[in-house]
Amino acid sequence: MDMNAELMTKAERIKSTLRETKERRKTQRVFVYQLKLQNLSKRKIALLERAFLEAKWFYNWLVSDTDRLDMFVYKVREVEVKVGDHYEQRKLTVLGSQIKRAIADRIKNNLRSLGRLKKNGRSVGALKHKSFVNSIPLVQYGRTHKLDFERKRVRVQILGTFRVLGLHQIPKDAEIANAVLVRKPSGYYLHVTCYRSKDRCVSADKIGDAVGVDFGISSKLTLSNGIKIDFEIRESLRLKRLQRKLSRKRVGSKNRERVRFLLNKEHEKLERRRRDAQNKVLAFLNHYGKVVFQDDYVKGWSSLWGGFVHSSGIGGLKSRLRHSLETAIPVERMVTITRECFACGLRHDLSLSDRVIVCECGWECDRDVNAALVILRKGLRLSLDQAVGLGRSELTPLESETAARVLGSNPHIRVSFLDEGGSLLLGSRRRSSAIGRRNDVNYEL
Ligand SMILES: [Zn+2]
Repeated sequence: MDMNAELMTKAERIKSTLRETKERRKTQRVFVYQLKLQNLSKRKIALLERAFLEAKWFYNWLVSDTDRLDMFVYKVREVEVKVGDHYEQRKLTVLGSQIKRAIADRIKNNLRSLGRLKKNGRSVGALKHKSFVNSIPLVQYGRTHKLDFERKRVRVQILGTFRVLGLHQIPKDAEIANAVLVRKPSGYYLHVTCYRSKDRCVSADKIGDAVGVDFGISSKLTLSNGIKIDFEIRESLRLKRLQRKLSRKRVGSKNRERVRFLLNKEHEKLERRRRDAQNKVLAFLNHYGKVVFQDDYVKGWSSLWGGFVHSSGIGGLKSRLRHSLETAIPVERMVTITRECFACGLRHDLSLSDRVIVCECGWECDRDVNAALVILRKGLRLSLDQAVGLGRSELTPLESETAARVLGSNPHIRVSFLDEGGSLLLGSRRRSSAIGRRNDVNYEL
C-alpha cells in the first residue's frame, strides 16, 4: 500500500484522497453549527470589516472580467476598484490564498449554472457586481481555519484568533470540515460544517434501547416506560387581553395598529415557547436507540387524515419526529392499537373514561402506557411471546434523571412518572401500588 502511495503522482494522490473522502461521506451525516465570534476588540472588528471589503473587491474584480478566473487567482495581491468614475488600485492584505481560490470557485460554479440555464433556453444576465459580500468561504480545515476547543477559539488564516461561543455543540467524534465566515446585523459568525458517522449518531449517550410513544390529544404523550409528558403552552392572559383590546379599537386607527403589533409579538413569543418545548421533547426521545410512534402519514393514511400539519403541538412534533430523528420508526395508525391488550393481544371495549386496561390474562396497565407498549411491540415487529420482557422494563434512574434534566429545563413541560414504569402488571400483589397512583414529579417552576 505504502509503496503504491509513493509511486503515485501528486495529482493521483489528491484524486484518491477525494475518492476516499467521498466514500466516507456516504456513511456520515452532515451538521452545520453556528459559532458566534465574541469579545471583539475594535482592532479585530476593523480586521473583519477589511476582510469582507476585500472579498467584495476581489469578487467584483473577477466578475468584471471573467477571463481572470483562469489566472492563478490565489497569487493576486492587488485589484483595481471602481471609485466614482475611475479605477484605483487596492492591495489585498488580509485575504488568504485559499480564500481567494474559494471565491473564484464560487463564481465559476455560478457561471456554470447560469450556462446550464442558458442552454435550457432561459434568458440569463451576466453576474453582477455586489455592493456587499457578507460571507467568506473557508474551505480547508487546518489551513484556512482551525478550532481550539480547549481555549474556545478559532484561528482564521491571516485574520488571527477569535474567541467563539457555541463550541460545546460540536460532538467530540465529529469530523470538522469547511466553514463560512458570516456577517449579520447581530454580529459575526462562523458556520462550521461537520460530519459524523451515521452509527455514531444513533448510539451516542443512549439511555434505553427502544421506546414506544402514544400520542394523546393536544400536547400529551405517554412513553412505554411510564413517563408522561405534557407540553401544552396555553394562551397567555396577556394574549386574551390584547385580543379583547383589539376588538374594541376602531378599524384603521393608530391605536389598533399598535395593539395588533403587540398581539403579533405575543403570538411570536408563545410560538417560540412551543417550539422550544418540542425541541426538548425531541432531544429527550433522541436518547433512545429507537423511537416507535403511530404516524398518521404512513402509507395511504395521509389522505384519510387530512394533509395539514400543525406547526406546534402533536402534529408538529410528529412531523419533526419523522424528519429529524434518525431513530424514529413510524407504525401505521390504527384505532385498535390503543385498545389491544399488550400481553395477549385481546381487543377490549374501552370507553374514554377508562384509564386502566384490565385483561383476563392478568395484565393490568395504565391505558396510555399499554397503548405505547403495543405500539413499541408492533414497531419492533415482535410477537406476543417475544415482547414479554418489554412490559417488565422499569424506568431506570438514568431515564428519570435524563427526563428531569432535558425536559425540566423548559418550565412549561410537565413530566410525571408512573410508579414502576410500565411493569405495573402481573399479579395482584402490586396492583394497588401500580394502578392509578401517579408519582407526580412536577418540574414546573
Ligand atoms: Zn390480555
